[in-house]
Amino acid sequence: MAQRALPNPYADYNKSLAAAFFDAAGRLTPEFSQRLNNKIRDLLQQMERGLKSADPRDCTVYTGWAGIAALYLHLYNVYGDPGYLHTAHDYVKKSLSCLTKRSITFLCGDAGPLAVAAVVFHKLQNEKQAEDCISRLLQLNKLDPRAADELLYGRVGYIYALLFVNRSFGQERVPQSHIQQVCDMILASGENLAKKRNFTAKTPLMYEWYQEYYVGAAHGLAGIYYYLMQPCLRVSQVKLHNVVKPSVDYVCRLKFPSGNYPPCVGDTRDQLVHWCHGAPGVVYMLAQAYKVFNEPQYLSDALQCSEVIWKFGLLKKGYGLCHGAAGNAYAFLALYNLTQDVKFLYRACKFAEWCLDYGEHGCRTPDTPFSLFEGMAGTIYFLADMLVPPKAKFPAFEL
Ligand SMILES: [Zn+2]
Repeated sequence: MAQRALPNPYADYNKSLAAAFFDAAGRLTPEFSQRLNNKIRDLLQQMERGLKSADPRDCTVYTGWAGIAALYLHLYNVYGDPGYLHTAHDYVKKSLSCLTKRSITFLCGDAGPLAVAAVVFHKLQNEKQAEDCISRLLQLNKLDPRAADELLYGRVGYIYALLFVNRSFGQERVPQSHIQQVCDMILASGENLAKKRNFTAKTPLMYEWYQEYYVGAAHGLAGIYYYLMQPCLRVSQVKLHNVVKPSVDYVCRLKFPSGNYPPCVGDTRDQLVHWCHGAPGVVYMLAQAYKVFNEPQYLSDALQCSEVIWKFGLLKKGYGLCHGAAGNAYAFLALYNLTQDVKFLYRACKFAEWCLDYGEHGCRTPDTPFSLFEGMAGTIYFLADMLVPPKAKFPAFEL
């Protein structure tokens, strides 16, 4: 872990250090808010220049145009400036003109562009086009029995798109029955694989992606279980207690002595502290398990994730969401919102401060340097979320 991160140069929380960032009620100081706002403006300009050389055919939220549209939609939600909504509209049109026709997920497939477009059109009061996007989104669900289940390329990533639409519209535009149907397939698929591969003595559910049993939020078990525990997916109490909980407990048993989690079942290398692999993604499953089952062990494991991220979360990979400092900082915001403990707000502020010095730590440049999930757009998204910590949510994942 230490090889992949830069040493955290910051002192940990104490009250007087925190006073530079927020008051006793957790309200950001005007000075810190100003620094965030200035950096958001500055990075937006750099991003716009950089996007001129981006791949014109990448429609996705993860690395392409829909991700930039999602950023501007977020900025519109935070600032209320209609200029951001119009820019989101420009990018979403670009995205719709080059859909993948392959994957169904929010992050890497066509569901992301269609869901973001539906919301942008709706906010622009273009209901006819919004409706068209929603019906195309619903048609994506062919219920392919061989589809994967994980967030980036599987059914959970499709469910996120459906929930994103319903939450953004503030009404059930996608019927609950449609969401339920996909959720049932995820459960059945996990039970089948666990039986087929003889996991049932250890865990009632198992999932794979590309012949690997991934553990983390992006491709793996923790991301899927985070969803199965959401009240809005209405998994029955019996299934929740007899099937999902023991599966969550199985992930808990994979914890390394450090408090981090392996990228795959059976992998003994304790190296990755990313949202996609490791503690910064698993923490959401733990927090949700604590909310649903109310057992202190889940909270204690989640707090241990925070320690790992604080020590090893300023990654040499940069400032992005998927595997960078901004993505890792969201874990602190999630824990702050779970516990109201300002130590986590402080830690998030310090990671934000790290991002304010974007590009000055000798980190490597990602393959898509301006994208939402690998690059600068993601950092801007995080800095905007930092302005209103109680509302912050890891994009395209956290509910
Ligand atoms: Zn990643």
